[in-house]
Amino acid sequence: MKKSILLPLYFLTIGIIYSQDVKMTAWEVSEIWDPEPKIVTPGNSFGDAPSDAIVLFDGLNLDKWVHKNGDPAKWDVKDGYFTVKPGTGDILSREVFGSCQLHVEFMSPVKIEGDGQNRGNSGVYFMENTEDGDTGYEIQVLDSYDNRTYSNGQAGSVYKQHSPLVNASKKPGEWQTYDIIFKAPVFNEKGGVESPAYITVFHNGVLIQNNSQIQGYVKFIGYPEYKAHPPKLPIKLQDHSNPVSFRNIWIRKL
Ligand code: MG
Repeated sequence: MKKSILLPLYFLTIGIIYSQDVKMTAWEVSEIWDPEPKIVTPGNSFGDAPSDAIVLFDGLNLDKWVHKNGDPAKWDVKDGYFTVKPGTGDILSREVFGSCQLHVEFMSPVKIEGDGQNRGNSGVYFMENTEDGDTGYEIQVLDSYDNRTYSNGQAGSVYKQHSPLVNASKKPGEWQTYDIIFKAPVFNEKGGVESPAYITVFHNGVLIQNNSQIQGYVKFIGYPEYKAHPPKLPIKLQDHSNPVSFRNIWIRKL
């Protein structure tokens, strides 16, 4: 090919790549859309707390939960479940935990509003460090029934780190379960990672995270990194402005 053609071709190619790059917003850079987890229809069963579990919500009150400033949890409790009260903020377990088995049931709002990340968004966070920039490890809660978003941000994802193996979501208004086995990270004296965190998740009884290695605390923009933290910290449920409901929450220390 003639040199006179090559040079404009070079600039044209660079121009296309550049224009595609700049179209992405900062938070889109870490989104993964493909492949999309395939849809699996789950069975029907709920987990009762075993004898050695600590019950974090028994259907009656939120006494075991507080807001970040220490105020009693202001989310609405009725009929054996509670619902995010948008604008009141996240809630944290009073008790702190490291490695654990957690059972939580959630329901996406019956009234379908918004799409993508704005439909039924909440989150179950492990080891939320409110003392150090709200760093924690999030399993995403989202209405992912007929609601496409980036795969590593849909229900059951380790948010922006691992897509779920499949999409086992039920319809809005139906109760769903997460059974989670969380292995806490270990840090050395210098604050380095001696062993990372690992997580296994069953969504409605279907395995969706199989001992996934957590790459660091959750970030909306940028990539995860670890920050050394105490060996035990609260569980957090996220107020993402959507009225997601929860019930039957229990935990076993491992
Ligand atoms: Mg969330």
